[in-house]
Amino acid sequence: MSSPCLFCRIASGEIPAKKLYEDDEVFAFWDISPQAPTHFLVIPKKHLSGPEAISAEDEALIGKVVRIGAQLARENGAEHCRLAMNNGAEAGQTVFHLHLHVLGGRPMSWPPG
Ligand code: 5GP
Ligand code: ZN
Repeated sequence: MSSPCLFCRIASGEIPAKKLYEDDEVFAFWDISPQAPTHFLVIPKKHLSGPEAISAEDEALIGKVVRIGAQLARENGAEHCRLAMNNGAEAGQTVFHLHLHVLGGRPMSWPPG
């Protein structure tokens, strides 16, 4: 039976996405509704519902997600970028599979809305 999780299905190739990067642990793809000229998502293939679900054994994996996000940003014209994780619905999380937003290619304001 296929996973009910949208990003698990994207990472497995069951649902198509514009892939930027893939290895055995990490998958990166362009956001379907970009909020900046560069806007992609980096996810662990392991299903974690969000930052709250990270356990000590996942620390290296999440470090890798961030490292690859910054590296792909540089390679895609967004060396200066915003790396963001929304944690919970009130913080704007709509997909409950941990993902790092990488946004760049325009000046970023602070604080975010
Ligand atoms: P969240 O709001 O959970 O932090 O971010 C979820 C992100 O996933 C949003 O920026 C949204 O545009 C993106 N997204 C939702 N569904 C899809 C999809 O089917 N394909 C892709 N590529 N991005 C998606
Ligand atoms: Zn998932």
